[in-house]
Amino acid sequence: MPIPPRSADAALVLFSGGQDSATCLAWALSAHARVETVGFAYGQRHAVELACRAPLRAGMAALHDWGARLGPDHLIDIGPGLAALGETALTSEAAIALGADGLPTTFVPGRNLLFLTYAAALAYRRGLRRIVAGVCETDYSGYPDCRDDTIKAMQLALNLGMQRRFVLETPLMWLDKAETWALADRLGGTALTGLIEEASHSCYLGDRTHRHPWGYGCGSCPACDLRRAGWERWRARG
Ligand code: ZN
Repeated sequence: MPIPPRSADAALVLFSGGQDSATCLAWALSAHARVETVGFAYGQRHAVELACRAPLRAGMAALHDWGARLGPDHLIDIGPGLAALGETALTSEAAIALGADGLPTTFVPGRNLLFLTYAAALAYRRGLRRIVAGVCETDYSGYPDCRDDTIKAMQLALNLGMQRRFVLETPLMWLDKAETWALADRLGGTALTGLIEEASHSCYLGDRTHRHPWGYGCGSCPACDLRRAGWERWRARG
């Protein structure tokens, strides 16, 4: 997605601490006048990703004029409800595999729908019009709540249900993982791609002990595979 001229609007970025949401935060800091971030604790198996959020925010605040545009961070604990509803590989020790319904066991039903609803409630209170999410239909993990149609339907539901004109923005929707790295490069050069390599987290196993050129991770789970393959394709394109 081309980087639009900067708007005067304020935005809220769903910011988990992963590669995609980190790239989205950089995109939003380029695209909007004021940017706040929100993260969610939902009983996930590993809190590693959440611990990556502060270093990523601090690193981005040092780039361009982004420090002046970066507003407060919000962490919402939505409690054990999602994890209590059923076993998924992100909220329990269930194995990471493809389930009988064709969806990976890392799929947490309703998670993104809840996140968007909480984010909109926060945006309502904070007076933020744009809600930015790093969901993607191209290289995605097969999650139906990452699809463009799901996001468009959520925008309509949230605007009707809260009587607002929120705009849900998904700058990564049609990018593959190599293009996501390339977007970060365009937004902030090697200072940003280096920050994302070092400080963002993707690995489903929460591994921060093995450092690869593309970042930390076990190197073999589906999230590591996707991240490494995208990084290698991006680097190969030069
Ligand atoms: Zn991994």
